[in-house]
Amino acid sequence: MDERLSQGLAAWLEFYRELGIEDFYRRPPVSKIETGNSKLEIRNPKLATERQGPSPWSGAPNPEPRTPNPELRAPTLPPQALSLFEAPPPARRERETLEQIRGDLGDCHRCRLAAGRKTIVFGQGSARAQLVFVGEGPGADEDEQGLPFVGRAGQLLNRMLQSIGIKREDVYICNVVKCRPPGNRTPERDEIESCSPFLFRQIEAIRPRLVCCLGAPAVKTLLGLKEGMLKIRGRFYDYGGTKALATVHPAYVLRNPREEKILREDFEKIRDFLKA
Ligand code: URA
Repeated sequence: MDERLSQGLAAWLEFYRELGIEDFYRRPPVSKIETGNSKLEIRNPKLATERQGPSPWSGAPNPEPRTPNPELRAPTLPPQALSLFEAPPPARRERETLEQIRGDLGDCHRCRLAAGRKTIVFGQGSARAQLVFVGEGPGADEDEQGLPFVGRAGQLLNRMLQSIGIKREDVYICNVVKCRPPGNRTPERDEIESCSPFLFRQIEAIRPRLVCCLGAPAVKTLLGLKEGMLKIRGRFYDYGGTKALATVHPAYVLRNPREEKILREDFEKIRDFLKA
């Protein structure tokens, strides 16, 4: 095997190893499989979606990356490529910046939430944060100021951060949806499907050590968990290789002040995790 070929093959193998694929087998050329039925290319769309991860929001195809790690999307083979061995090595994508992602979001009208918002609340904090908080969506104060968690729930979040000795400016805070849902209702599935790719990209751009999901929509969007919050809270999960902690939303604690100890307890877990 010549050197160029061997380097190309090594790059491909490395790419697939990162995806967790280590076994390869031969199969007939794609053109034969496709003969007479173009739909054969994706024989089981459900399976194809499941392979992308456990998102409970899966359904309509989404043009944006849906995996926790957009870098890990498979490269596209040039049309003439005959086999893995003849394809050029996949181009490595640079890590995106938050500014690029914000630029891409633009004056977003991808979903109906745009109609009722004053401001897009993209996120706030350090681009190099070790800890990212993900809430549900902006409320009235956030919509007014263009910043996440600046209302009463935000003040509680600030107190919790202070109690574990972490400065707000050292973390990154964002939401599952970037525009305020009318009347502060829970964001709906299609709204989350439109907006969550930007959240995935924000997390990938920051690459924190820990993502803290505040409340059910964040837990469902990032971790695919649908069980009740009180059952799943306080535990660490895996979000595409990054640790993620599920906890209750500060607004829940504002409505149920006796539950503040839950949030406090979970924040102590955050502190202990980041100290280790
Ligand atoms: N609640 C959220 O989920 N996010 C905010 O930014 C504010 C309140």
